Amino acid sequence: MNRQLYFGVDYIPESIPPNEWRMDLENIKKVGFNTIRTGVCAWPTCEPEPNTYDFGIYDKIMSICKDIGLSVILTVPQNLPSPRWLLEMYPESWVVNHRGEKGHLRWPYACFNHPGLRERSALFIKEYVPHFRDHPSLIMYQLDNEISYTPEHRLGEKLSFHCYCQNCLKEFNRWLDKKYEGKERPEVKRQTATGTISREPIPFSDLRPIPLPDPVFCTELLWVEWRKFQDHVITMKTKWLVDEVKKYDEIHPLTSNMMIGSWTLLRNHDIFDLSRQLDFVGTSSYTDVTKDYDIQDSANLSIARSNAKGKGWHVLERKGVPLKSLNHDIFDANGIMKTGDNRRVITWSWRPVAYGARSLIYWIWRLARPNDYSFAYPDGTLATEFLPAIDKLSTGFQKVYPHIAEAKPYPSEVAILFSKSSIHLSQKSGDFNIPEVPSQAYTGSFATLWDNRVQADFVDEEEVRKGILCNYKVLFAPFLYVIDEGIAEALRKFVAEGGNLIWDAESGSYDKEMYYYKVPAGGLDQVMHYQAHMPYGEEKPQLSLNEDYGSLAKGSVLKGYAWWEEIEVLPSGRAIASFSDGRPAIVVGQYDKGTTMHVATDIFRAYLFDRSMETRNLVDSFLTKAGVKRPISIANIGADEDDRFEATFLESEDSTILFLLNSNSMKVQPKISLNLKEKECKLKDLIIRQLIPSKTEGLKVTFDIKIDPYDVKIIQVSAKLT
Ligand SMILES: [Zn+2]
Repeated sequence: MNRQLYFGVDYIPESIPPNEWRMDLENIKKVGFNTIRTGVCAWPTCEPEPNTYDFGIYDKIMSICKDIGLSVILTVPQNLPSPRWLLEMYPESWVVNHRGEKGHLRWPYACFNHPGLRERSALFIKEYVPHFRDHPSLIMYQLDNEISYTPEHRLGEKLSFHCYCQNCLKEFNRWLDKKYEGKERPEVKRQTATGTISREPIPFSDLRPIPLPDPVFCTELLWVEWRKFQDHVITMKTKWLVDEVKKYDEIHPLTSNMMIGSWTLLRNHDIFDLSRQLDFVGTSSYTDVTKDYDIQDSANLSIARSNAKGKGWHVLERKGVPLKSLNHDIFDANGIMKTGDNRRVITWSWRPVAYGARSLIYWIWRLARPNDYSFAYPDGTLATEFLPAIDKLSTGFQKVYPHIAEAKPYPSEVAILFSKSSIHLSQKSGDFNIPEVPSQAYTGSFATLWDNRVQADFVDEEEVRKGILCNYKVLFAPFLYVIDEGIAEALRKFVAEGGNLIWDAESGSYDKEMYYYKVPAGGLDQVMHYQAHMPYGEEKPQLSLNEDYGSLAKGSVLKGYAWWEEIEVLPSGRAIASFSDGRPAIVVGQYDKGTTMHVATDIFRAYLFDRSMETRNLVDSFLTKAGVKRPISIANIGADEDDRFEATFLESEDSTILFLLNSNSMKVQPKISLNLKEKECKLKDLIIRQLIPSKTEGLKVTFDIKIDPYDVKIIQVSAKLT
C-alpha cells in the first residue's frame, strides 16, 4: 500500500538527448511529481542485437531517479516495438492485418502466437528483470504497453483489431477444436464466384488455406468465437508475462495499462479477464479534453474501480494538459490548440483518486516533436502555463492521500452487466453493423444511475455465472443481446431470491448458438413477463405512462432512441406504459421474491443524449422500490448543468471521505445531506484543514459548501454512511 499517491509522468529517454535527462528528471521533481513511468520502448534499446544486452540507458535513468527521489514504474516491454532483429530472425512472426499485409509499420511488432516471440521475450525478461529488481527506486512493473492488438493506426476500423497471421489462424483452429470437441463446429459461408454468399455452409476446418474470418462470410457464431479467441490471446499473453516476470521477482506488483474507454470497449482485450491476471488493475484513461466534463470518463473509472475489487488500482496514462492537435494525429501535429481552462485538469485528476486510484501518471513529460500531451517543449523548457494546476494538485494530494491510503470504495448496491458476447456480435458487418451501440447503452445506463447519485459496479458474464449478483440489489442489463443458459439461470436465480432486474429492447435476442430466438432467450420470458417479436427501427419512439409509477405521474412521456419492440405481455406482468400506437412499452412484474422491468425501446441510449428528467425519475423510482440506499442528496447546486457536479466516496475503518468535484466554469453552492449510521459526526475539509459547520438531525447531517470553478472539496466525515 503506497503511503503517497504515485503522481507522475511518462518519460521516454530514447527520444531525448542523454545530457538532458538529469535536467528533465529534476524538473519533473521540482514541479511536484514523485514518480515516472518509463521503459515502454526498452526491448530494442536494451537488446540491440540478439543476446547482447545493454541496460546503460535505464541504469542511468534509475540512478538519477534514486539521487533526486523519484519512484519508477518500469515497463516490461514486448510489443512497442519489438526489436527489428526479431522480425528479421522470424519474418513470419510479424503481425498481419486483415488485408494480409504486414501490420503496424510504425511500431513493427511480432505476434504472440509465434513461438519465436515467446522464446526471445522470455530470454530478454530473464536478463532485464533480475537486472532491475533490486533497484531502490523501482515500485512496480507495467506489462507491455496498452496490451491489445493494433496492427495499424486506423483504430476505428474494426477488422484492424485482429491479427490474421498464419499462427493466429492455426491457433484459432486448434482452440475451436478443443472448445467444440464432440460437437458441431461453427461454419463459414461459402463465397460464390460472383461474390454472393451461398446458403450452404462449409466447415471452417475444411478450408485451405485457412480463411480470414471476415464478418461478411462468417456465421454469427464463428465471428463471435473469432473475437473471443482474440480476447483469449491477449489474456494468455498477459498471463504469460506475469508468469515470466514472477520467475525472477515475486516482490514487486504487476499491472498493465489496459485501455478502458468508450470505443476501446469494442477492442479485443477483455478488461475483466485481464484484470483477473494482474496483481493490480491499471489503465490508460483519457477523457475528452474539449469538454468540461464527459460522463464516459466516470463510467470508465467505474469499470476500473469495479475490477480492482477494493484493492486499489493505477492510472498509468492520463492527459495532464488541456491541449488538442488540430488534425488529431498525435504523431504529426500540424497545430496545437488549447481547449478550455487549464483548471479543468484539477477535476479530471482528482476524479480517479476519488474512485480509489493509487497512481496518477500523465502522458507525457516531453517528446522530441511538438505534441499536445507534454508539460515541456521539444527543447525541454517548461510549459509554465500548466504548472499552477499541477502545483495545486501536488499539494492537495500530499495533504489528502495519507487519509485515504487505506480507504476502499463505498460498496455498490447496483450492478451493470457487461456482455462481451453481445459486444462481439454487434461488431459483425451487414445489417448487424452497429459498433457504437454497446458503449452508448452502457454509458447511458450508467448515466441514469450517476445522475441519481447512485454508484454502480460493472460486472461481466463470468462473474455473473459464478454468482456475483448475490452482492447486489439491482441489476441493469442494457444491450444484453446474447443470453446463454448460464447467464439465464443466474438472472432467474437473482430475481427469484429478491433481486431487481431492469433491461431494455432486444435483450436476449440471441442464444449462445447466436440464433435469433424466441425473445427473451433462455426461458426468461417467464421472469420478465413478456415475449417479443423482431424490433423495428423508429426515430425516437415515444412512450407514455398508463398509471402513476413512483415519482412519475400518469401521462408522463419518455423517449427511446432508434428502436421499438412489439411485445406481448404475459398474464403475470403489467404494462405500465404504451407507445403512441397503444402497444405495450414498459412491462413490470414480480417473479418469486424479486421484481423486473422491461422497457421495449433503447431507453438507456436515449438518455445518454437527452438526459430526460422523466427517464431519470423512472430509474429513481425503480431503485426506490428496490430499496437502494441513498447516502447523499444534493440540492441547490446553482449551476445550469448539475450533471457536471459529482459526489463520490471512499470508506475507511471509521470514517468516510467525501469527494465533491465541480466541473463547471462557475462557482457552485450546494446544500448537502448525508445519511449516517451513527448519530454524531464531524466534517473536516482535508485541504484547508478546517471543520465545516453542519447541522445534525437524527441520522442526517446537512451542510452548505462553496466550490470554485473546476475545483474540488475533499471532506472527512467522522462516521460511516448508511
Ligand atoms: Zn498473429
